[in-house]
Amino acid sequence: MSSAPEHLHPVDPSNGEPLAPVAVTTAEALEATVAAARQAQATWADTPLEVRCSRLRSFAAALQGDASEALAQQVAREMGKPLREARAEVRGVATRVESFITQAARACAEEVGVEGGIKVTVRWRPLGVVAVIGPWNYPVATPNNLVLSALVTGNAAVLKPSEFTPRTGAMYHALLTEHLPPGLFGLVQGTGRVGAALVAGDVDMIAFTGSIATGQAIMREAASGMKRLVLELGGKDPMIVLPGADLEAAARHAAIEATRNSGQVCVAVERILVHQDIAETFSQRVAEIVRGLQVGDPRDEATQIGPMANARQRDLVLGQLARARAGGARFLVEGEARGPGFYLSPSVVVGVTPEMDLAREETFGPVVAIQVVRDADEAVARANDTVYGLGASVWGPAGAETEAIADKLQAGMVGVNRGLSTAGGAPWVGWKMSGFGYTRSAAGMRQFMQPQSRAVRA
Ligand code: NAD
Repeated sequence: MSSAPEHLHPVDPSNGEPLAPVAVTTAEALEATVAAARQAQATWADTPLEVRCSRLRSFAAALQGDASEALAQQVAREMGKPLREARAEVRGVATRVESFITQAARACAEEVGVEGGIKVTVRWRPLGVVAVIGPWNYPVATPNNLVLSALVTGNAAVLKPSEFTPRTGAMYHALLTEHLPPGLFGLVQGTGRVGAALVAGDVDMIAFTGSIATGQAIMREAASGMKRLVLELGGKDPMIVLPGADLEAAARHAAIEATRNSGQVCVAVERILVHQDIAETFSQRVAEIVRGLQVGDPRDEATQIGPMANARQRDLVLGQLARARAGGARFLVEGEARGPGFYLSPSVVVGVTPEMDLAREETFGPVVAIQVVRDADEAVARANDTVYGLGASVWGPAGAETEAIADKLQAGMVGVNRGLSTAGGAPWVGWKMSGFGYTRSAAGMRQFMQPQSRAVRA
């Protein structure tokens, strides 16, 4: 990292116009931010859990009205998310605080046992300073999950937002930091270079959400200091649709969850594996629903699908679509790119085959990609034939038979006749290359802590 002043140049995805530049954090400022976090953490670790929780509650209470609306507007401006989706993202941050508090209380509880005259206590202690590195697709919700997990368990946090959404990151940071002791929650800005410098800095853990490739780079860099890791990575979520399913509900789920946020969702429906007996009816209904989706300016209240967040992502999706077409896939709905900005309307593609990268690589775009399978066994085999393992869903007759298919899926989060869910304190977790470590749930909170056992002769 250099010490010379540099800037990020974010762009409004709805028109391609430059937004105000954001200064990149210098090497010296990064070091000072981490040092301040470390100093503040010593006191924070000794602050009673109830007090830490009350700070988070006051953040949640403040994230209402004008503050909440301003943050949602910022998300819409910087990444092109339709305003109503952006509002839901921000609302979710405020409403989820209580569940972080509940899980933290479970995670922080001491465990005591007596055996052979020895009293053993297991205490869960914070790790120290957690570097949080975020993506652009949910620029508030994803860092927030990691930041709140770190803070509530007694750690300090330093956030590096995505270079595509720096102001959203700065606004989130300003809102939360107001409720925390000075220095405890730091902010640095920049590209992957600054992210790498933060990983190499004086931090004890890296909590990361982003691509597999970056996750691997972080894992390599973290190895020398044996730093703790939570990596929430990409997915290629399959949706299996079988005879006996509620086809209307399944078609609606497919159409909406493959195109929400322009498909830029880690747990989007990326692949549909539909039984041959219902494939035609199902595909036609999906196409009908997709044709009715409203594409437009993210700030228009009626818009369901805005532009893609950046030209790089749009071009990646266009490349996958072109190669699928060349490989013989058919378009029931043809997505069109248009400017100014990075608009790409949704596509419904049938005749997708397992070798196509539309079936293998994360698409992260507004594409419903449909493969036809002979039976449930073939669906399961194809669903699992991937390095990814984030989410999955299976749609079939209600009951044990469909649940038995879910049992065979290699994914961290599985839905049966619905999308995946983290209700009831379930973890947010990826299997295979979709993740390393996990969050939410009491066990997820403990990823941000170090167990320490103490044995005392009675
Ligand atoms: P990305 O990996 O390109 O970038 C993520 C962040 O890492 C950015 O802030 C970037 O600046 C930083 N970075 C890049 N190189 C780095 C390095 N060497 N060291 C440290 N930091 C570095 O990912 P993206 O394009 O911003 O996000 C999209 C990806 O995120 C998709 O794959 C998506 O599936 C995934 N994602 C996963 C989840 C989940 O919960 N599993 C949630 C949201 C997004």
